[in-house]
Amino acid sequence: MCGNPCCTSPGLHGQVLIATACLTTLAVMPAIVILGGGVMGASVAYHLAARGARDILVIDRADGPGGGSTSRATGGFRAQYATAINVRLSLLSRQKLLRFREEIGGECGYEPVGYLWLASSAHEMGILAEARAVQHAEGLPEAVEVSVEDIARINPAVVLDGIAGGAFCATDGFIHPYGILEGYLSAAARLGARIEWGVEALGLQRDAVGSVNAVRTRTDTIPAGIVVNAAGAWAGDFACSCGVDEPVTPLRRQVARTVRTKALPWSMPMTIYCADGFHLRVRDGRVLLLRPTPGDPADPWSDRVDPAWLDDIAAAAPVRVPALRGVALDRARAWAGLYEMSPDHHAILGWAPGCPNLLLVNGNSGHGVMHAPALGLLAAEIVAHGAARSLDVHALRPSRFAEGDPVRGSSLL
Ligand SMILES: Cc1cc2nc3c(=O)[nH]c(=O)nc-3n(C[C@H](O)[C@H](O)[C@H](O)COP(=O)(O)OP(=O)(O)OC[C@H]3O[C@@H](n4cnc5c(N)ncnc54)[C@H](O)[C@@H]3O)c2cc1C
Repeated sequence: MCGNPCCTSPGLHGQVLIATACLTTLAVMPAIVILGGGVMGASVAYHLAARGARDILVIDRADGPGGGSTSRATGGFRAQYATAINVRLSLLSRQKLLRFREEIGGECGYEPVGYLWLASSAHEMGILAEARAVQHAEGLPEAVEVSVEDIARINPAVVLDGIAGGAFCATDGFIHPYGILEGYLSAAARLGARIEWGVEALGLQRDAVGSVNAVRTRTDTIPAGIVVNAAGAWAGDFACSCGVDEPVTPLRRQVARTVRTKALPWSMPMTIYCADGFHLRVRDGRVLLLRPTPGDPADPWSDRVDPAWLDDIAAAAPVRVPALRGVALDRARAWAGLYEMSPDHHAILGWAPGCPNLLLVNGNSGHGVMHAPALGLLAAEIVAHGAARSLDVHALRPSRFAEGDPVRGSSLL
Protein backbone atom coordinates (compact mmCIF):
# COMPACT_ATOMS: atom_id res chain seq x y z
CA MET A 1 0.00 0.00 0.00
CA CYS A 2 1.26 3.50 -0.72
CA GLY A 3 0.01 4.82 2.55
CA ASN A 4 -2.13 7.43 0.90
CA PRO A 5 -4.98 7.75 3.36
CA CYS A 6 -7.52 7.61 0.55
CA CYS A 7 -6.06 4.57 -1.20
CA THR A 8 -6.12 0.92 -0.31
CA SER A 9 -4.89 -1.07 -3.28
CA PRO A 10 -1.31 -2.08 -4.02
CA GLY A 11 0.15 -0.99 -7.32
CA LEU A 12 3.14 0.23 -9.32
CA HIS A 13 6.53 0.13 -7.61
CA GLY A 14 4.98 -0.89 -4.31
CA GLN A 15 2.81 2.20 -4.24
CA VAL A 16 -0.92 2.28 -4.35
CA LEU A 17 -2.43 2.12 -7.81
CA ILE A 18 -4.65 4.93 -8.91
CA ALA A 19 -7.85 4.70 -6.92
CA THR A 20 -10.38 6.68 -8.89
CA ALA A 21 -12.37 7.31 -5.72
CA CYS A 22 -9.51 9.46 -4.44
CA LEU A 23 -10.26 12.42 -6.64
CA THR A 24 -13.83 12.67 -5.50
CA THR A 25 -12.96 12.14 -1.86
CA LEU A 26 -10.27 14.85 -1.78
CA ALA A 27 -12.87 17.34 -0.65
CA VAL A 28 -13.56 15.31 2.49
CA MET A 29 -9.99 14.26 3.10
CA PRO A 30 -8.32 15.17 6.33
CA ALA A 31 -6.31 18.35 6.41
CA ILE A 32 -3.18 18.69 4.32
CA VAL A 33 -0.41 20.73 5.93
CA ILE A 34 2.42 21.87 3.65
CA LEU A 35 5.68 22.80 5.36
CA GLY A 36 7.31 25.57 3.37
CA GLY A 37 5.81 28.34 1.27
CA GLY A 38 8.66 28.50 -1.25
CA VAL A 39 8.06 27.76 -4.90
CA MET A 40 7.72 24.03 -4.25
CA GLY A 41 5.21 24.27 -1.40
CA ALA A 42 3.27 26.90 -3.35
CA SER A 43 3.12 24.74 -6.47
CA VAL A 44 2.01 21.69 -4.48
CA ALA A 45 -0.68 23.78 -2.73
CA TYR A 46 -2.02 25.12 -6.03
CA HIS A 47 -2.06 21.75 -7.78
CA LEU A 48 -3.78 20.09 -4.81
CA ALA A 49 -6.37 22.85 -4.61
CA ALA A 50 -6.93 22.64 -8.37
CA ARG A 51 -7.69 18.94 -7.89
CA GLY A 52 -10.36 19.71 -5.36
CA ALA A 53 -8.55 19.42 -2.02
CA ARG A 54 -10.41 21.72 0.34
CA ASP A 55 -8.44 21.83 3.58
CA ILE A 56 -4.91 22.97 2.69
CA LEU A 57 -2.71 24.93 5.04
CA VAL A 58 0.75 26.14 4.02
CA ILE A 59 2.94 27.21 6.92
CA ASP A 60 6.24 29.00 6.61
CA ARG A 61 8.41 30.42 9.34
CA ALA A 62 9.46 33.39 7.19
CA ASP A 63 7.62 36.71 7.53
CA GLY A 64 6.38 36.52 3.95
CA PRO A 65 7.00 35.01 0.53
CA GLY A 66 10.58 34.48 -0.58
CA GLY A 67 12.25 33.89 2.78
CA GLY A 68 14.01 30.73 1.56
CA SER A 69 16.02 29.91 -1.55
CA THR A 70 13.41 30.73 -4.20
CA SER A 71 13.95 34.48 -4.10
CA ARG A 72 17.72 33.94 -4.36
CA ALA A 73 17.61 31.89 -7.56
CA THR A 74 19.19 33.45 -10.64
CA GLY A 75 16.29 32.39 -12.86
CA GLY A 76 17.78 29.85 -15.23
CA PHE A 77 15.63 27.30 -17.02
CA ARG A 78 17.04 24.36 -18.95
CA ALA A 79 16.15 20.97 -20.27
CA GLN A 80 19.76 20.13 -21.14
CA TYR A 81 20.33 17.54 -18.42
CA ALA A 82 22.16 14.23 -18.40
CA THR A 83 19.34 12.04 -17.06
CA ALA A 84 16.01 11.10 -18.57
CA ILE A 85 14.03 12.05 -15.47
CA ASN A 86 15.47 15.57 -15.32
CA VAL A 87 14.85 16.15 -19.03
CA ARG A 88 11.27 14.94 -18.57
CA LEU A 89 10.72 17.19 -15.55
CA SER A 90 11.99 20.16 -17.57
CA LEU A 91 9.79 19.37 -20.56
CA LEU A 92 6.72 19.01 -18.35
CA SER A 93 7.62 22.26 -16.58
CA ARG A 94 8.15 24.00 -19.89
CA GLN A 95 4.69 22.97 -21.08
CA LYS A 96 3.26 24.49 -17.92
CA LEU A 97 5.40 27.65 -18.12
CA LEU A 98 4.14 28.25 -21.66
CA ARG A 99 0.57 28.22 -20.27
CA PHE A 100 1.40 29.89 -16.96
CA ARG A 101 -0.54 33.13 -17.49
CA GLU A 102 -3.59 31.26 -18.69
CA GLU A 103 -3.50 28.61 -15.95
CA ILE A 104 -2.14 30.56 -12.98
CA GLY A 105 -2.76 34.16 -13.86
CA GLY A 106 0.74 35.49 -13.16
CA GLU A 107 3.97 36.06 -15.06
CA CYS A 108 6.58 33.30 -15.08
CA GLY A 109 8.98 35.29 -17.26
CA TYR A 110 9.96 32.38 -19.49
CA GLU A 111 12.39 33.74 -22.13
CA PRO A 112 13.88 31.11 -24.43
CA VAL A 113 17.25 32.77 -25.02
CA GLY A 114 19.13 29.48 -24.73
CA TYR A 115 21.78 27.82 -22.58
CA LEU A 116 25.27 27.59 -24.03
CA TRP A 117 27.72 25.04 -22.57
CA LEU A 118 31.40 25.57 -23.31
CA ALA A 119 33.71 22.55 -23.30
CA SER A 120 37.47 22.85 -23.06
CA SER A 121 38.42 19.24 -23.83
CA ALA A 122 37.38 16.18 -25.82
CA HIS A 123 36.40 14.59 -22.51
CA GLU A 124 33.89 17.37 -21.78
CA MET A 125 32.61 17.21 -25.35
CA GLY A 126 32.02 13.50 -24.77
CA ILE A 127 30.00 14.16 -21.62
CA LEU A 128 27.89 16.74 -23.46
CA ALA A 129 27.36 14.28 -26.33
CA GLU A 130 26.24 11.52 -23.96
CA ALA A 131 23.80 13.88 -22.30
CA ARG A 132 22.54 15.05 -25.69
CA ALA A 133 21.73 11.45 -26.65
CA VAL A 134 19.53 11.28 -23.55
CA GLN A 135 17.98 14.66 -24.39
CA HIS A 136 17.16 13.60 -27.96
CA ALA A 137 15.70 10.30 -26.77
CA GLU A 138 13.45 12.24 -24.39
CA GLY A 139 12.15 14.65 -27.03
CA LEU A 140 14.53 17.60 -27.03
CA PRO A 141 15.78 17.62 -30.65
CA GLU A 142 16.68 21.31 -30.49
CA ALA A 143 19.64 20.53 -28.18
CA VAL A 144 22.63 20.53 -30.53
CA GLU A 145 26.39 20.28 -30.55
CA VAL A 146 28.08 23.55 -31.45
CA SER A 147 31.50 24.23 -32.95
CA VAL A 148 33.82 27.05 -31.93
CA GLU A 149 32.53 29.01 -34.95
CA ASP A 150 28.93 28.47 -33.81
CA ILE A 151 29.85 29.70 -30.33
CA ALA A 152 31.36 32.87 -31.80
CA ARG A 153 27.99 33.53 -33.45
CA ILE A 154 25.76 32.53 -30.51
CA ASN A 155 27.73 34.44 -27.90
CA PRO A 156 30.33 36.73 -29.48
CA ALA A 157 31.33 38.02 -26.04
CA VAL A 158 33.30 34.96 -24.91
CA VAL A 159 37.01 34.38 -25.51
CA LEU A 160 37.40 31.23 -27.58
CA ASP A 161 40.98 30.33 -26.63
CA GLY A 162 40.93 26.90 -25.04
CA ILE A 163 37.34 26.19 -26.08
CA ALA A 164 36.86 22.92 -27.97
CA GLY A 165 33.17 23.34 -28.74
CA GLY A 166 29.99 23.03 -26.76
CA ALA A 167 26.27 22.44 -26.61
CA PHE A 168 23.32 24.74 -27.12
CA CYS A 169 19.58 24.49 -26.66
CA ALA A 170 17.54 27.43 -27.91
CA THR A 171 14.44 26.63 -25.83
CA ASP A 172 16.39 26.82 -22.56
CA GLY A 173 16.60 30.28 -21.05
CA PHE A 174 15.28 32.39 -18.21
CA ILE A 175 12.34 32.44 -15.81
CA HIS A 176 11.26 34.75 -12.96
CA PRO A 177 11.52 32.79 -9.70
CA TYR A 178 9.52 35.31 -7.68
CA GLY A 179 6.83 35.62 -10.35
CA ILE A 180 6.36 31.85 -10.33
CA LEU A 181 6.26 31.77 -6.52
CA GLU A 182 3.72 34.60 -6.30
CA GLY A 183 1.67 33.11 -9.10
CA TYR A 184 1.28 29.76 -7.37
CA LEU A 185 0.68 31.32 -3.93
CA SER A 186 -2.05 33.60 -5.28
CA ALA A 187 -3.67 30.86 -7.34
CA ALA A 188 -3.66 28.47 -4.37
CA ALA A 189 -5.19 31.16 -2.12
CA ARG A 190 -7.89 31.92 -4.71
CA LEU A 191 -8.83 28.24 -4.63
CA GLY A 192 -9.14 28.30 -0.84
CA ALA A 193 -5.71 27.24 0.44
CA ARG A 194 -4.63 29.09 3.59
CA ILE A 195 -1.10 30.41 3.81
CA GLU A 196 0.31 31.41 7.19
CA TRP A 197 3.64 33.20 7.52
CA GLY A 198 5.70 33.37 10.68
CA VAL A 199 4.70 29.84 11.68
CA GLU A 200 7.55 27.42 12.26
CA ALA A 201 7.05 23.66 12.29
CA LEU A 202 8.96 22.35 15.26
CA GLY A 203 8.03 18.69 14.97
CA LEU A 204 5.57 16.05 13.86
CA GLN A 205 3.23 14.16 16.15
CA ARG A 206 3.16 10.52 15.01
CA ASP A 207 1.03 7.53 15.98
CA ALA A 208 2.09 3.98 16.77
CA VAL A 209 2.48 2.97 13.09
CA GLY A 210 4.48 6.06 12.27
CA SER A 211 1.78 8.11 10.54
CA VAL A 212 1.74 11.83 11.21
CA ASN A 213 -1.40 13.12 12.90
CA ALA A 214 -0.35 16.66 13.72
CA VAL A 215 2.31 19.29 13.14
CA ARG A 216 3.68 20.99 16.22
CA THR A 217 4.47 24.70 16.08
CA ARG A 218 5.54 27.05 18.84
CA THR A 219 1.96 27.88 19.75
CA ASP A 220 -0.19 25.13 18.25
CA THR A 221 -0.67 21.50 17.43
CA ILE A 222 -2.18 21.48 13.94
CA PRO A 223 -4.10 18.29 13.10
CA ALA A 224 -3.04 16.84 9.76
CA GLY A 225 -4.06 13.86 7.67
CA ILE A 226 -1.27 14.44 5.17
CA VAL A 227 1.89 16.47 5.64
CA VAL A 228 4.06 17.66 2.75
CA ASN A 229 7.71 18.39 3.47
CA ALA A 230 8.59 21.21 1.05
CA ALA A 231 11.04 22.91 3.38
CA GLY A 232 13.79 23.28 0.77
CA ALA A 233 17.34 23.24 2.15
CA TRP A 234 15.90 22.71 5.64
CA ALA A 235 13.80 19.66 4.63
CA GLY A 236 16.40 17.09 5.66
CA ASP A 237 17.18 18.71 8.97
CA PHE A 238 13.51 18.98 9.85
CA ALA A 239 12.72 15.40 8.81
CA CYS A 240 15.67 13.97 10.72
CA SER A 241 14.59 15.87 13.83
CA CYS A 242 11.28 13.98 13.52
CA GLY A 243 12.92 10.59 13.08
CA VAL A 244 12.52 10.43 9.29
CA ASP A 245 15.66 9.75 7.30
CA GLU A 246 15.88 12.39 4.55
CA PRO A 247 19.31 12.95 3.05
CA VAL A 248 18.90 16.60 2.04
CA THR A 249 21.71 18.96 2.97
CA PRO A 250 22.38 22.67 2.35
CA LEU A 251 25.01 23.92 -0.07
CA ARG A 252 25.83 27.60 -0.36
CA ARG A 253 25.72 29.25 -3.78
CA GLN A 254 27.07 32.77 -4.20
CA VAL A 255 26.10 35.27 -6.87
CA ALA A 256 28.20 38.29 -7.87
CA ARG A 257 26.51 41.23 -9.55
CA THR A 258 28.11 43.98 -11.62
CA VAL A 259 27.12 47.61 -11.53
CA ARG A 260 24.51 48.58 -14.12
CA THR A 261 25.99 48.09 -17.54
CA LYS A 262 25.17 47.72 -21.22
CA ALA A 263 28.36 45.75 -21.83
CA LEU A 264 26.35 42.61 -22.64
CA PRO A 265 22.83 42.25 -24.07
CA TRP A 266 20.02 40.92 -21.83
CA SER A 267 19.32 38.24 -24.44
CA MET A 268 22.77 36.70 -24.17
CA PRO A 269 22.20 32.99 -23.47
CA MET A 270 23.12 31.61 -20.08
CA THR A 271 26.75 30.68 -20.76
CA ILE A 272 28.41 27.95 -18.69
CA TYR A 273 31.96 26.64 -18.66
CA CYS A 274 31.96 22.87 -18.15
CA ALA A 275 35.45 22.96 -16.65
CA ASP A 276 34.58 24.84 -13.47
CA GLY A 277 30.90 25.70 -13.64
CA PHE A 278 31.59 29.44 -14.08
CA HIS A 279 28.48 30.95 -15.64
CA LEU A 280 26.95 34.27 -16.42
CA ARG A 281 23.78 35.94 -17.57
CA VAL A 282 22.35 39.45 -17.71
CA ARG A 283 19.45 40.34 -15.41
CA ASP A 284 17.90 43.73 -14.67
CA GLY A 285 20.69 45.59 -16.43
CA ARG A 286 23.51 43.90 -14.51
CA VAL A 287 25.64 40.86 -15.23
CA LEU A 288 25.27 37.99 -12.76
CA LEU A 289 28.40 35.88 -12.31
CA LEU A 290 28.58 32.53 -10.54
CA ARG A 291 31.16 29.85 -9.91
CA PRO A 292 30.29 26.95 -7.61
CA THR A 293 32.33 26.25 -4.49
CA PRO A 294 31.99 23.47 -1.90
CA GLY A 295 30.21 25.92 0.43
CA ASP A 296 31.40 27.39 3.70
CA PRO A 297 33.38 24.62 5.43
CA ALA A 298 32.91 26.29 8.82
CA ASP A 299 29.13 26.59 8.57
CA PRO A 300 27.00 24.64 6.06
CA TRP A 301 24.06 27.00 6.73
CA SER A 302 26.04 30.15 6.01
CA ASP A 303 24.60 32.43 3.36
CA ARG A 304 27.36 34.98 3.72
CA VAL A 305 29.22 36.06 0.58
CA ASP A 306 32.95 35.38 0.86
CA PRO A 307 34.91 38.53 -0.12
CA ALA A 308 37.79 36.38 -1.43
CA TRP A 309 35.34 34.60 -3.73
CA LEU A 310 34.23 37.98 -5.08
CA ASP A 311 37.88 38.88 -5.74
CA ASP A 312 38.32 35.65 -7.72
CA ILE A 313 35.19 36.27 -9.77
CA ALA A 314 36.22 39.87 -10.44
CA ALA A 315 39.55 38.60 -11.77
CA ALA A 316 38.15 35.69 -13.81
CA ALA A 317 35.25 37.43 -15.55
CA PRO A 318 37.12 39.90 -17.81
CA VAL A 319 39.61 37.22 -18.85
CA ARG A 320 36.77 35.10 -20.22
CA VAL A 321 34.52 37.96 -21.31
CA PRO A 322 36.61 40.99 -22.37
CA ALA A 323 33.50 43.20 -22.55
CA LEU A 324 33.51 43.08 -18.74
CA ARG A 325 36.90 44.82 -18.50
CA GLY A 326 36.29 47.97 -16.52
CA VAL A 327 32.80 46.85 -15.39
CA ALA A 328 33.04 46.76 -11.60
CA LEU A 329 31.26 44.37 -9.30
CA ASP A 330 28.62 45.94 -7.09
CA ARG A 331 29.99 44.10 -4.09
CA ALA A 332 27.27 45.25 -1.71
CA ARG A 333 24.64 43.67 -3.95
CA ALA A 334 26.19 40.22 -4.16
CA TRP A 335 24.11 37.56 -2.49
CA ALA A 336 24.17 33.92 -1.49
CA GLY A 337 21.58 31.26 -0.78
CA LEU A 338 21.31 27.56 -0.18
CA TYR A 339 20.85 24.71 -2.63
CA GLU A 340 18.93 21.74 -1.22
CA MET A 341 21.23 18.87 -2.14
CA SER A 342 20.22 15.22 -2.36
CA PRO A 343 22.94 12.57 -2.68
CA ASP A 344 22.37 12.06 -6.43
CA HIS A 345 21.48 15.71 -7.10
CA HIS A 346 17.93 14.81 -8.12
CA ALA A 347 14.60 15.65 -6.54
CA ILE A 348 13.06 13.43 -3.89
CA LEU A 349 9.36 12.82 -4.51
CA GLY A 350 7.10 10.35 -2.75
CA TRP A 351 5.86 9.08 0.59
CA ALA A 352 8.53 8.91 3.28
CA PRO A 353 9.65 5.40 4.11
CA GLY A 354 8.30 4.58 7.57
CA CYS A 355 5.93 7.55 7.60
CA PRO A 356 3.13 6.71 5.19
CA ASN A 357 1.36 10.07 5.07
CA LEU A 358 4.41 12.32 4.92
CA LEU A 359 4.99 13.35 1.30
CA LEU A 360 8.53 14.45 0.45
CA VAL A 361 8.87 17.06 -2.30
CA ASN A 362 12.38 18.39 -1.95
CA GLY A 363 16.06 17.69 -2.65
CA ASN A 364 15.99 19.55 -5.97
CA SER A 365 19.69 20.31 -5.75
CA GLY A 366 19.53 23.74 -7.31
CA HIS A 367 16.85 23.09 -9.98
CA GLY A 368 13.82 23.70 -7.84
CA VAL A 369 12.36 26.76 -9.47
CA MET A 370 12.44 25.36 -12.99
CA HIS A 371 11.05 21.99 -11.86
CA ALA A 372 8.43 23.30 -9.42
CA PRO A 373 5.63 23.46 -12.01
CA ALA A 374 6.16 19.76 -12.81
CA LEU A 375 6.86 18.54 -9.29
CA GLY A 376 3.87 20.35 -7.79
CA LEU A 377 1.61 18.70 -10.34
CA LEU A 378 3.16 15.26 -9.80
CA ALA A 379 2.95 15.59 -6.00
CA ALA A 380 -0.73 16.50 -6.25
CA GLU A 381 -1.34 13.51 -8.51
CA ILE A 382 0.29 11.23 -5.94
CA VAL A 383 -2.05 12.55 -3.25
CA ALA A 384 -5.14 12.75 -5.44
CA HIS A 385 -4.77 9.58 -7.46
CA GLY A 386 -2.36 7.41 -5.52
CA ALA A 387 0.39 7.72 -8.14
CA ALA A 388 1.83 10.32 -10.46
CA ARG A 389 0.10 10.29 -13.84
CA SER A 390 1.91 12.86 -15.95
CA LEU A 391 5.30 11.15 -15.59
CA ASP A 392 6.74 7.93 -14.21
CA VAL A 393 8.52 9.23 -11.11
CA HIS A 394 9.85 5.90 -9.85
CA ALA A 395 13.42 7.22 -10.26
CA LEU A 396 12.72 9.93 -7.66
CA ARG A 397 11.29 7.66 -4.93
CA PRO A 398 12.65 8.45 -1.46
CA SER A 399 13.69 4.85 -0.82
CA ARG A 400 16.22 4.80 -3.70
CA PHE A 401 19.18 5.73 -1.51
CA ALA A 402 18.56 2.96 1.03
CA GLU A 403 18.04 0.56 -1.91
CA GLY A 404 21.41 1.52 -3.38
CA ASP A 405 19.69 2.66 -6.57
CA PRO A 406 20.28 6.41 -6.92
CA VAL A 407 19.71 8.22 -10.22
CA ARG A 408 22.91 7.85 -12.23
CA GLY A 409 24.23 10.43 -14.66
CA SER A 410 27.07 12.89 -15.08
CA SER A 411 27.15 15.51 -12.34
CA LEU A 412 28.47 18.03 -14.89
CA LEU A 413 24.95 18.90 -16.01
C1 LIG B 1 22.11 31.34 -5.71
C2 LIG B 1 21.06 30.37 -6.18
C3 LIG B 1 20.75 30.32 -7.53
C4 LIG B 1 19.77 29.43 -7.99
N1 LIG B 1 19.43 29.44 -9.31
C5 LIG B 1 18.44 28.64 -9.74
C6 LIG B 1 18.03 28.68 -11.10
O1 LIG B 1 18.60 29.42 -11.92
N2 LIG B 1 17.01 27.87 -11.49
C7 LIG B 1 16.38 27.04 -10.62
O2 LIG B 1 15.47 26.32 -11.02
N3 LIG B 1 16.76 26.98 -9.33
C8 LIG B 1 17.77 27.75 -8.87
N4 LIG B 1 18.14 27.70 -7.57
C9 LIG B 1 17.55 26.69 -6.70
C10 LIG B 1 16.20 27.12 -6.23
O3 LIG B 1 16.28 28.37 -5.61
C11 LIG B 1 15.64 26.08 -5.27
O4 LIG B 1 15.78 24.79 -5.84
C12 LIG B 1 14.17 26.34 -4.99
O5 LIG B 1 13.97 27.66 -4.63
C13 LIG B 1 13.67 25.40 -3.94
O6 LIG B 1 12.36 25.79 -3.62
P1 LIG B 1 11.71 25.30 -2.28
O7 LIG B 1 10.33 25.83 -2.25
O8 LIG B 1 11.91 23.84 -2.15
O9 LIG B 1 12.62 25.96 -1.15
P2 LIG B 1 12.57 27.41 -0.50
O10 LIG B 1 12.28 28.47 -1.46
O11 LIG B 1 13.82 27.53 0.30
O12 LIG B 1 11.32 27.31 0.46
C14 LIG B 1 11.37 26.53 1.63
C15 LIG B 1 10.61 27.28 2.69
O13 LIG B 1 10.51 26.45 3.83
C16 LIG B 1 10.50 27.29 4.97
N5 LIG B 1 10.84 26.48 6.11
C17 LIG B 1 11.98 25.81 6.34
N6 LIG B 1 11.91 25.13 7.49
C18 LIG B 1 10.69 25.40 8.02
C19 LIG B 1 10.02 25.00 9.21
N7 LIG B 1 10.60 24.17 10.10
N8 LIG B 1 8.78 25.47 9.44
C20 LIG B 1 8.17 26.32 8.55
N9 LIG B 1 8.77 26.72 7.42
C21 LIG B 1 10.00 26.26 7.15
C22 LIG B 1 11.50 28.38 4.62
O14 LIG B 1 11.23 29.55 5.35
C23 LIG B 1 11.29 28.56 3.13
O15 LIG B 1 10.46 29.66 2.82
C24 LIG B 1 19.11 28.58 -7.08
C25 LIG B 1 19.41 28.64 -5.72
C26 LIG B 1 20.37 29.53 -5.26
C27 LIG B 1 20.69 29.59 -3.81
